[in-house]
Amino acid sequence: MALEIRGLEKQYDGFTLSLDLSVADGETLILAGPSGCGKTTALNLIAGLSAADRGSVIAGGTELSALPAWKRNIAVVFQDLALFPHLDAGDNVGYGLFIRGVGKRERRRIAGEKLAQVRLPGFERRRIATLSGGEKQRVAIARALAMEPAALLLDEPFSSLDAPLRRELREEFLYIRKGAPFPCVFVTHDREEAAMLGDRIALMDRGRIIETGAARKLFLEPEHAFTARFFGFGQVLPCTVREEQGQSCLADTPLGPLAIRGRPVHKEALFFVPRDGIYPAGQTGGTGAEAGKKTITALFRRSVFEGNRMILIVELRGGVLFPVEEKERIPLPSPGEAISLELDEAALKFLLP
Ligand code: ATP
Repeated sequence: MALEIRGLEKQYDGFTLSLDLSVADGETLILAGPSGCGKTTALNLIAGLSAADRGSVIAGGTELSALPAWKRNIAVVFQDLALFPHLDAGDNVGYGLFIRGVGKRERRRIAGEKLAQVRLPGFERRRIATLSGGEKQRVAIARALAMEPAALLLDEPFSSLDAPLRRELREEFLYIRKGAPFPCVFVTHDREEAAMLGDRIALMDRGRIIETGAARKLFLEPEHAFTARFFGFGQVLPCTVREEQGQSCLADTPLGPLAIRGRPVHKEALFFVPRDGIYPAGQTGGTGAEAGKKTITALFRRSVFEGNRMILIVELRGGVLFPVEEKERIPLPSPGEAISLELDEAALKFLLP
């Protein structure tokens, strides 16, 4: 009964979306990517809110492509929620059931049940204008749940809320998902939200999916340079490959000559340095003597305090500026002086361009 999207295409002037995806029952797939990459377009095509040029959408075992949105039984929660201000919370939740011809008494019963499920028990008679942002969000989710949809789509549902409320609603969403058997596609460009809510993440760029996988894989072991840059859990550096060495290749890099895991497509290649794969010498985890650890020297340029971490900007060979995370307070050299760094060579890997 999963959601299957096959060869789904849509062309706008200067933009083409091309999508193949499958989402299992009970699975939450995060659709992530930069602004304008086609996330909302993808949801609209799946929901039938805009017409695809070609391709198919199958949900709950039914081919939906020829059906209008209201016959698809795909629930959508938008960022602006689209709640009806003239109806109370209960009638908002029951609205889709009303369209389906379900009687008033049954609608109110289901609405009460779904509101309780999103932890708003007894809210049936509340007017929408009297609800907080987080409560409105829950009503919108309760409305989607009331449909017992074949799939649930959410388009940045929490992005207009402040950070503490967003965190609370993410927890809430995980709780609600536990009892919900349908596949779910959740659009966000918030990395933390993607990692926390997604069983898998599909990262999009310019209308295509670049890479799909669990958050840990995409954040810490990306295949593509685009993925590494988007999630930012490490740095992408250029290198020139010299020779193959077993499972690795020896390459000239701004960090010096290094053995990098994998096989690049070209001699001029890109590789990934995970955020915790390089740190100032002498810090926790870095003895300099462990297998795969190398000590290198760079020029210290400046430090940048980012609120929750201190970043040291160092200059590598060829004038490449590179951020290194300081794990413990250390005495820093003056700008322009040498700084020793420890590098976990085994953590380096080639990236697809
Ligand atoms: P954001 O994160 O900013 O919401 P997005 O990834 O959801 O972006 P879309 O809204 O899907 O991106 O837009 C993808 C591209 O398709 C954009 O270039 C947009 O201008 C274009 N586009 C979307 N809808 C239409 C339309 N109805 N007519 C023409 N072009 C459109």
